[in-house]
Amino acid sequence: MKLELMQYTCSTGAHQFVAPEIASGSYGDFLLRSEASEEMRFLNGIEDATYNEVNALILENARVRSLPANSRIEVLWKIYGATACDPDAMGSPFHIGLMPTCPVCGGREMAAWDCAYPARLVDVDVRVVSHRAWTTLDPEQKRLRVAEQLARSGN
Ligand SMILES: [Zn+2]
Repeated sequence: MKLELMQYTCSTGAHQFVAPEIASGSYGDFLLRSEASEEMRFLNGIEDATYNEVNALILENARVRSLPANSRIEVLWKIYGATACDPDAMGSPFHIGLMPTCPVCGGREMAAWDCAYPARLVDVDVRVVSHRAWTTLDPEQKRLRVAEQLARSGN
């Protein structure tokens, strides 16, 4: 798939590097990164029913429901990958919005990031997220899983 190269500057050492991201303007598309490896996954949140499914389950939580819309989306992004997507080859979960790892210091805190100008597109082989574990759960188990992930993320 075509991804756009973004220019990152890490917080730790101001190291500059480029890493791919979803091209701007691709509404509903997400690139998920693994916590522990360089693996990435692709999600189309409009076509993939689990995205709305997890969102609906999150909104059963009264505290989350009382949050402003943008904060509710942040909660969804924070827990969606670990809740409904199969982990990477090492068993580490994928997350929406996770920054790439700095190739120099291994840090994941970024001081700045921006599109390269002019835009640089790269063709990267990214697998679509899979939901083998999630789809084996019954509705009550899904509810529990979402509640666990909300608790773990401090929500
Ligand atoms: Zn760095």
